[in-house]
Amino acid sequence: MEKTVSMYNDIEKILVTRREIDVAVKKLGDMITEQYEGKELVMVCILKGAALFFSDLIREVSLPMVIDFMSASSYGSGTESKGEVRIKKDLDRPIAGKHVILVEDIVDTGNTIYFLQNYLKDRGAASVRVATLLDKPARRKVPLKADYYCFTIPDAFVVGYGLDYDEKYRNLPDIGILSPGVYGAEG
Ligand code: 5GP
Repeated sequence: MEKTVSMYNDIEKILVTRREIDVAVKKLGDMITEQYEGKELVMVCILKGAALFFSDLIREVSLPMVIDFMSASSYGSGTESKGEVRIKKDLDRPIAGKHVILVEDIVDTGNTIYFLQNYLKDRGAASVRVATLLDKPARRKVPLKADYYCFTIPDAFVVGYGLDYDEKYRNLPDIGILSPGVYGAEG
């Protein structure tokens, strides 16, 4: 309790509450259930940020599926990715002929997910769609439109519900804008 309270002290503004997330995730799960009936579905979690969203979302999809995990990092100076993406953990199973949904926490410049989508298409997936919890369209650098998204947010750095700053705040139940003072304190 004390720890959660102190995490909230670092949050400038709550953007999305846990309750709003629950409603949106359920709606998205229903949509996927409707659209993927009869297809060989593979839902892929992009680690680590999407882990919480993923675990909630897959339980709202009432279809047989395979789950898998990928981890990628983008190179670039500072906090901005430059489009050079490196895969740190690849899928465990082949995806040729499968219908893939890449589940991401946030699409910012779009570089990471754009790269991963093309990478999986090249490996013969029947289709590769993107489901993201948050979309920050203002900062897009590549022609990528998420097929499914829960919330569009302004150009601010957010944490919580899986999203981190320096590996912290992932366990915050809501999503909020991190106070600039916290960056300053990190130097
Ligand atoms: P992109 O390649 O779209 O620029 O970057 C996507 C990745 O950048 C996300 O998966 C996430 O790890 C990180 N990212 C972008 N914006 C934010 C943000 O506002 N907060 C956090 N915690 N991570 C972000």
